[in-house]
Amino acid sequence: MGFNNVSQGLKPEEVEAMKVACERAIAYRQGVLDRPGKLDIDITEALHRFGGALPEEGRDPDTVIKELADQADAGLLHLTSPRWFAYVAGSSHPAGVAADTLVSAWGQNAAMAETTPATAAIEQTAGKWMLDLLGLPKDSGVGFVTGGTVANSVGISAARNALLHREGWDVEAKGLFGAPEISVVIGDEAHSSVYAALRYNGLGAERVHKVATDDDGRILADDFERVIAPLSAPILVIVQAGHINSCGFDPFDKIIPVAHAKNAWVHVDGAFGLWMNSVPELSPRLAGVELADSWSTDLHKWLNAPYDAGLIISKDPVPLARSMSERASYLPEVGAWDPSDYAMELSRRARGVPSYAILKTLGKSGLREMVALHCRLAARVAATIEAEPGLTVLNEVHGNQVAIRCGSGRDSDEMTRETLRIVHQEGDVYPSHGFWRGCEIIRISVISYATQEDDVDRAAKAIIRAWKKANKGRHD
Ligand SMILES: *Cc1c(COP(=O)(O)O)cnc(C)c1O
Repeated sequence: MGFNNVSQGLKPEEVEAMKVACERAIAYRQGVLDRPGKLDIDITEALHRFGGALPEEGRDPDTVIKELADQADAGLLHLTSPRWFAYVAGSSHPAGVAADTLVSAWGQNAAMAETTPATAAIEQTAGKWMLDLLGLPKDSGVGFVTGGTVANSVGISAARNALLHREGWDVEAKGLFGAPEISVVIGDEAHSSVYAALRYNGLGAERVHKVATDDDGRILADDFERVIAPLSAPILVIVQAGHINSCGFDPFDKIIPVAHAKNAWVHVDGAFGLWMNSVPELSPRLAGVELADSWSTDLHKWLNAPYDAGLIISKDPVPLARSMSERASYLPEVGAWDPSDYAMELSRRARGVPSYAILKTLGKSGLREMVALHCRLAARVAATIEAEPGLTVLNEVHGNQVAIRCGSGRDSDEMTRETLRIVHQEGDVYPSHGFWRGCEIIRISVISYATQEDDVDRAAKAIIRAWKKANKGRHD
């Protein structure tokens, strides 16, 4: 069909294409539990299906969409299943998916409040709701970005701006050449994305001052004091709310006051764990997190927003805007706030809208119940695993993450890998692989809005069954 005639509104085949997309999307989601928990095709086969030269002639969009859905199906892992426990992946809440469909259809370039007031207001409101839920300062600047890595990077840009501004150095104009050196203090179990963020910001991934951590990857407050003591301003401190394997939290209430006494900027990588601060019974585990200067979090993890969505929050909005706004010298009091002032993109999708819809669907209580349930379910699966001879839970279960080791001694790594291989082959549940504290682990992350008690019980049973099989195989 291609580009032939221009008509008002939608052509019949375009209407059909949009309908087919919705129907297939619904069918996909309704059938997710019937899907095998493994892939039928690999990247080579997928490239075989989708690769090749672009045809000279176009086709009807409805045919294209039908074919796309048919051909992709075998190469889609069931990340939206309640029995998907891998990679700390939220599972695209249907309310968010529905809102995301509207966002695409509206086609707003959500850069400026003046031209796209509806999406700007929705995002601004969602941002305020989240500050309230997360217990963070209510006048903070909030930017909607694509995920945790970018949120960390934007947060570090804001920190860099503020720290050098205090030294009388305009980093946005002059760059880092000749600038006062920023010392970076970081826990030795920080997430890899933080190092990427340091690289993006010209601060170097290898010139950090590392602080020792405990068995759950949490910064040791004493060692933090030792590391920061000889340093002088400007200092950037990066802490973590939710370790990828243990969901451990750094001792914010002990270290942030020490950092602030040195005039340091404290950035929190809270990709998923920060959401536990929304639950009053759980928030003591994050005591003091609200004292920091900036926080990054993912929306596509614990909020279950569709990919890709994350949040950067800066207590002082000014350095965030100074580092991100494309207006040469940003003055926050001039003109209205624009969504693009707090994110890297100028032209941008209104990616905060799905989160607004999810929050409104869950309500405050629904969100809290979901996060609290996930933590209870993680504790439940950990208790079942621990009761099985030969299986060990390596972490204290601080939240929703469980790190499991199979067997002990020399062949433990091999047994852990083999157990996971069997679990994946059976395909009923999908935990992920990890490597932590010098050994192979099976990691369970309870984070899907749809996960219930039965799902985690199946996960525990699948791992125990596989472990017995692996163990038997070893003795045969
Ligand atoms: C997932 C994660 C990130 C990175 O987030 P992306 O959305 O994948 O970019 C950063 N830090 C922690 C602790 C994470 O769990």
